[in-house]
Amino acid sequence: MSTVIYLDNNATTRIAPEVFEVMTAWLRDGYGNPSSGYALGRAALAALDAARAQVASLAGCREDEILFTSCGTESINTAVQTAIALDPDKRHIVTSTVEHSATIKLCEHLAQRGYEITWLPVDPFGRLDPCQVAEAVREDTALVTLLWANNETGVLFPVAEIAEIARKNKSLFHVDAVQAFGKLPLTLEDAGIHFLSASGHKIHAAKGVGALYVNRRVRFTPLLRGSQENARRGGTQNVASIAGFGKAAELAAAHLDDPTIRHLRDEFEARILSGVPDCTVNGDRDSRLPTTTNLSFDGIASEGALILLDERGLCCSAGSACTSGSIHPSHVLKAMGFSNDRARASLRFSFGRFNSPDDVAKACEIVPSIIEKLRTISPVGSPVATASS
Ligand code: PLP
Repeated sequence: MSTVIYLDNNATTRIAPEVFEVMTAWLRDGYGNPSSGYALGRAALAALDAARAQVASLAGCREDEILFTSCGTESINTAVQTAIALDPDKRHIVTSTVEHSATIKLCEHLAQRGYEITWLPVDPFGRLDPCQVAEAVREDTALVTLLWANNETGVLFPVAEIAEIARKNKSLFHVDAVQAFGKLPLTLEDAGIHFLSASGHKIHAAKGVGALYVNRRVRFTPLLRGSQENARRGGTQNVASIAGFGKAAELAAAHLDDPTIRHLRDEFEARILSGVPDCTVNGDRDSRLPTTTNLSFDGIASEGALILLDERGLCCSAGSACTSGSIHPSHVLKAMGFSNDRARASLRFSFGRFNSPDDVAKACEIVPSIIEKLRTISPVGSPVATASS
């Protein structure tokens, strides 16, 4: 494990030691139910309150606007389902073709139930023109739901402009900020955003804990009914993971201005671009997460690259997904107009706080040699299998 070069931080992150410490204390000693009135329960409730304050502080909102969920996917489902429940006459949803599968699958499901979905396209750099949102919204638009940062390319959508469009149209606006939360500054107060989804495991907290911001002026319909979270999300809270998420949010806030991750990503990208022929950055380089680079290497198939990179201890993701034995090029890269070959020749490298210049140095030795090897054994166009998240 110690030799792993982990460049897949958009897939998930290592738990920060401080988060681990907080979590173990609550798992071991703080086992009270936060709904219980005695001291052990009250201590657990206080831990939830503290975590809520930490997450709200990172989000720039009030504490009572944060509810804890089991993951980003649950937050997204809750936001979308509550938005459409508010006004049954509004049966139109605006989203994009490059959303995370959590949104895509949900919108496809809603389409089968009679909702009309407008799937906005992106340009070859993965950008969304806000004018398209303005053209797409209608009187019966219940919700605009869009990513802030794309998980595959890191490309950012102009959420502030989109919020203004949604406000003018009196539509609700949900932002899937699972990748951007804790990596970009955020002030939700007066942002015109009604719902925002975040997830703990992308910011060095545990898997299985998420948060949903619900603007206090929005009427809310729970997905899971019960008394917890002020009756907005039933189910006994996962105290240890939530406390850890709070700590992770506090640490993320302390690192927001730290340019180290961007420098590592930029250094890696520059060295790969100059050292490997026929390599291209996928997506808008000016407006993207500081953590992410998505690269196409002409003539390779990413699945083969992943296997060889894994053998050398390097973890990253591919521009395609393997489902039931068949290979699907990434829907994001395809939506950007890429050919199947170029989409399948893409690898995503995503950096995090625990990466070091040594990781970059090693990756810059390993990646070029593997690309060269693949190009020698598998000339352009020959089918080699691939995978991604
Ligand atoms: N949205 C985006 C943009 C993501 O990258 C992910 C996870 O990869 C999710 C939503 C889902 O989050 P979770 O894994 O917490 O359900």
